[in-house]
Amino acid sequence: MSATDSLRAAIRDVVDFPKPGIVFKDITPILADGKLFRESVTLLCETAGGARIDKVVGIDARGFIFASAVADRLGVGFVPVRKKGKLPWKTRQTAYALEYGESIVELHEDAVQPGESVLLVDDLLATGGTAAAAVKLLDELGANLVGISVLIELSFLAGRNKLIPHPVHSILTY
Ligand code: AMP
Repeated sequence: MSATDSLRAAIRDVVDFPKPGIVFKDITPILADGKLFRESVTLLCETAGGARIDKVVGIDARGFIFASAVADRLGVGFVPVRKKGKLPWKTRQTAYALEYGESIVELHEDAVQPGESVLLVDDLLATGGTAAAAVKLLDELGANLVGISVLIELSFLAGRNKLIPHPVHSILTY
């Protein structure tokens, strides 16, 4: 089996979680398997295509798991985009709509310096609202967004359209 087939086979579909009608892609079986977790991080790192990255930005909460591992592998810093009320310092915030609900995300205003090259990483791209909110905050700070990399893309929700003109790379597409 190829690496991506093994990752795909490990993802568990949980029907009607957290709300009726949602098929939740549970990535915890990947995290629990050292080989699969390492492979997922390797593939996410490869999406950067050798471009210089100064910081990897991860999205609360499952995005942190992959983004921090990618940052460590690339030998660069990690920056969290968090749900409202979690970051202790001065923040910028923006509201957005989720596949299931609504939320506000925040970024420390000194987390990224103008012109720094950043890779945005999340576990899953659904409607794209969350990633678009993170992109907006990074744009406001003057970051050079190299790309948005996700393990899973639910392509039927067309989330990448919300991220134009930024390059979106997904390892597994549904
Ligand atoms: P969205 O803003 O609609 O692109 O939603 C993306 C965020 O919600 C990601 O951070 C995911 O972790 C989570 N998410 C949305 N839909 C799902 C799903 N079907 N399975 C697992 N996570 C999801």
